[in-house]
This record gives sequence, structure tokens and C-alpha cells, in this order.
Amino acid sequence: MQEYDVVVVGGGIHGAGVLQAAVAAGYRALLLEQLGIASGTSSRSSKLIHGGLRYLESGQFSLVRESLHERAILLRIAPELVRLRPFFIPVYKKTRRRPWQLRIGLSVYALLGGFAAGTGFGAVPRREWSTLDGLDTTGLQDVIRYYDAQTDDALLTRAVVNSALSLGAHIAVPARFLMASLDQNSVLIAYEFKGARVECRALTLVNAAGPWAPLVAAQVHPPIPIPAVDLVQGTHIVVPRSIAAGIYYVESPTDGRAVFLMPWKGSMLIGTTETPYSGDPARVQPLPQEEEYLLAVARRYMTTCRGLTRADISARFAGLRVLPAADASAFNRSRETIFTTDRDPGPRVVGIYGGKLTGWRAAAAHVLATLRPSLPARIARASTSQLPLRRNE
Ligand SMILES: Cc1cc2nc3c(=O)[nH]c(=O)nc-3n(C[C@H](O)[C@H](O)[C@H](O)COP(=O)(O)OP(=O)(O)OC[C@H]3O[C@@H](n4cnc5c(N)ncnc54)[C@H](O)[C@@H]3O)c2cc1C
Repeated sequence: MQEYDVVVVGGGIHGAGVLQAAVAAGYRALLLEQLGIASGTSSRSSKLIHGGLRYLESGQFSLVRESLHERAILLRIAPELVRLRPFFIPVYKKTRRRPWQLRIGLSVYALLGGFAAGTGFGAVPRREWSTLDGLDTTGLQDVIRYYDAQTDDALLTRAVVNSALSLGAHIAVPARFLMASLDQNSVLIAYEFKGARVECRALTLVNAAGPWAPLVAAQVHPPIPIPAVDLVQGTHIVVPRSIAAGIYYVESPTDGRAVFLMPWKGSMLIGTTETPYSGDPARVQPLPQEEEYLLAVARRYMTTCRGLTRADISARFAGLRVLPAADASAFNRSRETIFTTDRDPGPRVVGIYGGKLTGWRAAAAHVLATLRPSLPARIARASTSQLPLRRNE
């Protein structure tokens, strides 16, 4: 029977990150992915590597600081995959967030980002408004420009897996985790691979199954803690309109939520929504009312989008956020990653619930630090903040 130091369930950005961090630290590691690398949430995000300007409103300062720090690292180690882009916030008479509030928010953003490259901001001069991709200028009072980064989430995830493979990681795809049983110092893991049941033994198991994480945790015996989480669906649509100047950060005319209009492969990507979800994570699908909601945003702000209907949508996808269970609206709930362990000290199982694409490297480092007391001493091969990530279509 094969033996590993770390077995990871889930080939999304978190599983990829933990796999890379584990092999970089010198451990023998295996990743199990049931469908394909980045087939879950990690190909259905808004594709932003960002500090999360709006999280300042809910006081999530440490999340914003860490995300801006990670953004700076990714801009350095993955320049082919993570690019700084101008973001535009148009302010009209009825816009809820006023220019002075935005300037305070962006000053805090720059402070939390250590005033590093890409933390500057300012107003777009009125004479340049005509260069803004057909942005509606009727009643427009101000346009604030700041900078954040955009990526291709699926390509980024694959790049992290490739980096792990180059350091000697093992992966099994498609391989479905079936169950794990814990004894005092190790974990017996069963998974389905090429139609057969395979067993392996590991010192530790990492549950990075995204929206499936509670289901994976429920297959561990004896039972381990499972946090109370809600699944909240987020839909994006793609429409055949070009957008070149940057990313537009606007308020939905329906409910004031923040929505992004982004350039994406020659078209416009619009997202996202927040719709409570229950049921099989594999069956999440954009809903007609979500598409209408997003089209209404595009029609409101972009003169080039007037008259667009659902028939014009060229692509659509929905993903699931994993958020702490609460009665509050999803928009204002914490985006901090929830980490769980089966016991302390000496955990055998660590779970990752929620989190951000942006923070994958920090999340992986946290998981490794948590697992370390359960793992033998090994000689590290590399540091994940230095390993270059390359685009590989
Ligand atoms: C709509 C939306 C927009 C977002 N936008 C952004 C953004 O712009 N920027 C940002 O920083 N973050 C964003 N996020 C958050 C970010 O996308 C997620 O936090 C991240 O992708 C989660 O990755 P993950 O690896 O935890 O989960 P996933 O990517 O879902 O990966 C889990 C994997 O586990 C596999 N799996 C499940 N069960 C099993 C099993 N039994 N055996 C084997 N494999 C299994 C699945 O097939 C899947 O591939 C967004 C999230 C959503 C939903």
C-alpha cells in the first residue's frame, strides 16, 4: 500500500496550493480530484486577485491586508497569469458610495497594501470619460480609478499543480475520495480510481473539497467536527461586447450590490449574484432571474449594452461560495477562510472551508503549519513565495 505524508482531496486552487506547499516543504504528497483540475469553484470565480475593497465596509481589515500582500506576491511570481488592471468606479447622483467615502476607502486600501505598486488611485479627468467603453455619462459626477489584478482562475490552478508536479507531487485524476478512517497516528484512505477501489495510508489528510467539503468530512471515521456553513451561488454571464479600458465596479440598480463588468477573452464578463443554494454542488446552474439581474446592470451602465437580452448571452457559469452559516445577507458575511482540525495538538485531518482565490498561497501555508507537528522532519525544497508559476494552456 502506498504511503504519503499528506493526501489532499480536491483539485481546486486550495488543494493545488496545499499540494505545492507540501512538496515544497519536502513531504510526499498525493492529490485526489474527482473530475478535473479546477473543475469546481476555481474555474467559476470572478477571476480577480484583489484585496477586496468592499470588505473594508464590513471591517475585514486583516483579510484585505493579507489579500493585498498575496496580490503583490502573485504579481511577482506569476506575471503571465496575474495582471494589474485599472478598475473604474463611476459615481452618479444616486450612487450610494460617495466620492469622499471611496477616497477614504482607497486610502485605507493603499495603507493596508503598504503603498506598494498598484495601490495608487485618483479621478479620471472628464475629458477622458469618452475612452471608458461606452460608460453612461448622463448624470455622471465622478469616476474613480484604482488598481487590482485579474487572472484566469483555471489556468492559475493548473499552474500551481504543475509547479507541485515539478517538485515530485503525485496526483490522481479522476479519483473520487470515498472514505477515511483515523487511527492514533495515521489515516487509511479509500478512493475510486479507474473503476477500482484503491487504498493508501497517510500521516495527514487535507479536505480541500470546496462546496463538497462537508460531504467529504462526513466520510471520515470516527466523526470529525464539521463547521456550520451555507452554500451561496454566484452566477456570471458573458456577452459579446468588447470592453478594453479596464474593469468597472458598479452598483446594481436593483439592490445596490457591487457588480463587476470585466474584459474576458474579447467579450464582457458580468458578475456576480448571491443566491442561497442547497442540494448537490455538482448541479449548480445559472438561474434565469440571475441572468436578468446581471443584464440589467450592464444595460444601466454601458450604452453598448442597451437592448441586450438573455438570447445575447454567449456563455454562463455558476459557482458556490462556502460561507459561515448565518441569517445575515450573504453579501455582508465574512470571507475569511475557516480551517478545522480533528484534534489539537497533532491533527490528522485539516479542513478548508470558504476562502478566496487570492489567498490560496497563504491558506496553504497555514495548513502546512497546522500539520507540521504531525509530520516528520524533512528537508525543504523551495519556498512557495519564490516558485514561478507559468501559463500553460
Ligand atoms: C461566484 C464566485 C466568485 C468568486 N470570485 C472570486 C474572485 O474574484 N477572487 C477571489 O479571490 N475569490 C473569488 N471567489 C472565491 C474562490 O473562487 C474560491 O474560494 C476558491 O475557488 C475555492 O477553491 P477550492 O479549492 O476551495 O474549491 P473548488 O475549486 O470547488 O475545488 C474543490 C474540488 O474538490 C473536488 N472534489 C469534491 N469532492 C471530491 C471527492 N469526493 N473526491 C475527489 N475530489 C473531490 C471537486 O471536484 C473540486 O474540483 C469566488 C467564488 C465564487 C463562488
